[in-house]
Amino acid sequence: MVRKNRKVISRLSRYKNALNRFQSLGFVKIFSDYLAEAVGVTSSQVRKDFSLFGIHGNKRGGYQIDALLERLNEILGKNELQRVILVGAGNLGSALIKYKNFEKDGVKIVAAFDIDPAKHGDRDSIPVLPLDDMQRFIAEQGIKTAILAVPDVAAQPILDRLTSCGIKGVLNFAPIQLKAEGRCVVNHVNLELELENLIYFVNAMEKTGDTGLGN
Ligand code: NAD
Repeated sequence: MVRKNRKVISRLSRYKNALNRFQSLGFVKIFSDYLAEAVGVTSSQVRKDFSLFGIHGNKRGGYQIDALLERLNEILGKNELQRVILVGAGNLGSALIKYKNFEKDGVKIVAAFDIDPAKHGDRDSIPVLPLDDMQRFIAEQGIKTAILAVPDVAAQPILDRLTSCGIKGVLNFAPIQLKAEGRCVVNHVNLELELENLIYFVNAMEKTGDTGLGN
């Protein structure tokens, strides 16, 4: 499998979302300029990203949306249901458990693990299990991906435990930079940072009437 960088993969997800929207509006084919505009990149970037994966459009007809979506889902591993576990079933974890739209996008939280016995039991048909069951569950179910929604102090030790159990990808919500040992990719979602960044630009816009982003 070809190794690509995170920015390319993240653009592929954005192309896929835009294509789904175009398809739901009844479009069958699309040119790279329309897709580029919907995603906020240049059309040459779209063509370059696609050609990395051997996807080529037709100069006169553009890309066939259903074939393109099928190929993007294949590249992004979305043609099969991706089973993930969640660690930390507190406020954020509970919201993620309740959110059923992940399945529409090919992802299913199959179990959650929490250190607090009061959290154990079934929630929205997802079992919340003791941390001690995690290693066996990962091995038996062949789980490769985990979501981390524990307090920041617990995040690194849990990540170490997950990697030693063979987890290869972690989506971390704790506001702390984590270091993964071995072959594990960690993606960070830091809502505080995103909000801080957004508020900076809102304030800048109020002061100058411009976002300062140069667009
Ligand atoms: P929370 O305190 O409600 O939940 C944390 C859960 O983790 C609890 O159920 C706790 O029992 C469990 N836990 C603690 N140590 C553990 C361990 N070692 N192993 C397994 N489980 C453990 O916190 P929250 O609001 O759900 O936030 C979770 C993380 O997400 C935090 O790092 C927080 O900063 C971050 N975050 C939360 C939000 C939000 O909107 N709630 C937003 C951004 C980021």
